[in-house]
Amino acid sequence: MDQHLNDTFESQLLDMMANAYVSVNYGAADKLLEAGNFKAAKNMYLDEARKIVGPDFRLPAPAGEGDGGVISSVYTGLNPLEWTNLMGCCLGMAKWHLHEKDTEMALAWLEEVNAVYRCTYFYSPDPLYDWMDFHLATPQDFRVIRARALVLASQIFLSLGNTGTATTRRHTALTTLHPLTPQLKEIVDIPCLLDLYQTRHPSPQVTLSNDTVSTALQVRGSWTKLNVAKSDVLTGGREDFASFIWNGRFYVAGGRKTSLGPWYRDLWALNLENPSEWRRLPDYPVAFSQSGMFAGWRMVVHNNTTVLFTGRSTIDVFDLVTEQWTSFKTTYVPTAADIAAGVQNRWPYPKERLSDAAMQIANDKLYVFGGSHGTTSIGCNLFMELDLRTRKWRRLSGYVRAPRHADYSCPGPRKSAASWVSKDKTRVYLLFGHADREGASFHDEAHGAESAFGYEDMWSWSIPEERWRRERMSGNPPCARTELACAYNEKLEKVFVFGGYQPTLPTYVMEQRIQFNYSYFADTFVYDMSPSSPPSGTVSQEPTYSAPKWKQVLTHGFPTYRCQAQLACDPATGRTYMFGGFTNNQYIPTRTKLFSRSFGDIWELRTEESGGHFDEVNLEEEARSSKAGPWQRCFSCASPGPWKKCGGSCKGRVFFCGGPCLKDGWKEHKEMHKCRKA
Ligand SMILES: [Zn+2]
Ligand SMILES: [Zn+2]
Repeated sequence: MDQHLNDTFESQLLDMMANAYVSVNYGAADKLLEAGNFKAAKNMYLDEARKIVGPDFRLPAPAGEGDGGVISSVYTGLNPLEWTNLMGCCLGMAKWHLHEKDTEMALAWLEEVNAVYRCTYFYSPDPLYDWMDFHLATPQDFRVIRARALVLASQIFLSLGNTGTATTRRHTALTTLHPLTPQLKEIVDIPCLLDLYQTRHPSPQVTLSNDTVSTALQVRGSWTKLNVAKSDVLTGGREDFASFIWNGRFYVAGGRKTSLGPWYRDLWALNLENPSEWRRLPDYPVAFSQSGMFAGWRMVVHNNTTVLFTGRSTIDVFDLVTEQWTSFKTTYVPTAADIAAGVQNRWPYPKERLSDAAMQIANDKLYVFGGSHGTTSIGCNLFMELDLRTRKWRRLSGYVRAPRHADYSCPGPRKSAASWVSKDKTRVYLLFGHADREGASFHDEAHGAESAFGYEDMWSWSIPEERWRRERMSGNPPCARTELACAYNEKLEKVFVFGGYQPTLPTYVMEQRIQFNYSYFADTFVYDMSPSSPPSGTVSQEPTYSAPKWKQVLTHGFPTYRCQAQLACDPATGRTYMFGGFTNNQYIPTRTKLFSRSFGDIWELRTEESGGHFDEVNLEEEARSSKAGPWQRCFSCASPGPWKKCGGSCKGRVFFCGGPCLKDGWKEHKEMHKCRKA
């Protein structure tokens, strides 16, 4: 994180604070809490918080409502001492709810601390990008409370088995609160953080205990690999491809095998009802010289076609019924505001190239956010709309190139964000992604740095109101990441997220004595857009339960850690599938030396959500024979590792970690799977 400290500004702040009088009473409430006087402490936290925000402000604010979101004019209008006091009260309320064993409410209050912290950015004279860490000239208390809140959240997420978010929160405390005083160091607990850096997300050890701790924050699920015949070109592995589902078929187009190629311009379909073999369709017909590489593009289903926007004013279309490619021309007339936002030569995408943008269609309009074009590596935050009936473009927000200072009214510049549209087609959502600051540095652009920045934000664009709202990450959310797989399941009214990559979260592999400054994920989450009712036995009557929220999907087995995989949901059956992606070879155990390896496997995700096809899952069988990332579970002891297949007539249906476990489990395996010694 970059530090931002302006000397003049700091001295102004110190003057202001010397003259301000705010009672810092969260400390008195803390003493009550420590003394075991919980009820009195809770009342004092709430009273103090109400004094600051006023009696009508809802605390904690529910996610996804009204002006809602993270940014509130009440919070941005406070001064540093009020922020400190309010954050102290919210942290105290989180502790109180933990005491009451209400984990969800504790997390809601900790998210309130995050919201207050985010609003302190408005205090900076120059708007700051998210990768800048705002160092307020606040009392040490401000930083101590923030550290304590991050660490408490880390402990809660760890207890839920959400190791990615647990590690990220504690890591954030370490990296954004420098210089670390002895007190901060003690709170962050660096030895504990070093342990977390050795965890994979998910940890195969954690998924062994597959019981959900909290039905409000977790749901059981299952990943099953489909058995598809190998085809040299497609099943050998793909990254940077486009994919979608239409009429019971999973489509994959373009991309590449590895970063060194080969590069593809082909199109394939798999019949999901009978997924035995990939069928090849006509190649993308536009020449490389016109379009550039078919990499990092999106294909979006619209009626019985799919729309492909590559940054050119000509849109390519694949007709899914006739299975033929066509195209049509679009027009765009920049406004004065567009020109002020950097549009030149009457077209928003310089060099007519665009990759790694987010794309969605709603109400016959194509929405395009961010991505890299001919003159930006870091990614832009242009938000464009193409009316597919009039074929006219309009800029909705953002800039062609990231300006010197941030703009808090819209998401920051980025690539590879995930996106979806709400069921009622009134909101376009945007999740995570990264600012490629490493690429910017390499190409001598503004905002360059040694490593990319992975966003931890979520936004939604109101189509009728035409404005952005920065959303709260309520519930049990995935940690910041990019190149994640994400899809909206229309039938289940839920968003699924799998895997991805975080460019700055370290991973330690102790046995090999190596350390990476990045992490790959294979964890699965669901964003519940309309939770039906509060879980039974809940203590609290707060509104948070009915607001949209994240849950982690706990599975015995899971595909290998990876980024650039793609999820797609079949709107007819409600089934969810994942295909492809890649991982750095060193990150997983391997025998061959390659820079990276890509995957050509396709998996189905089932979950316990209503309509999630969970009745088809054999949990007992999975617990003992599933693939846990690059490892396999031992049939007898269920521990994950590079175990040997059973050599009997079952043809390797189960694995054993060694002789003793083979001896222990053989009889049961023989009966269960009708295996005989070969
Ligand atoms: Zn074993
Ligand atoms: Zn066997």
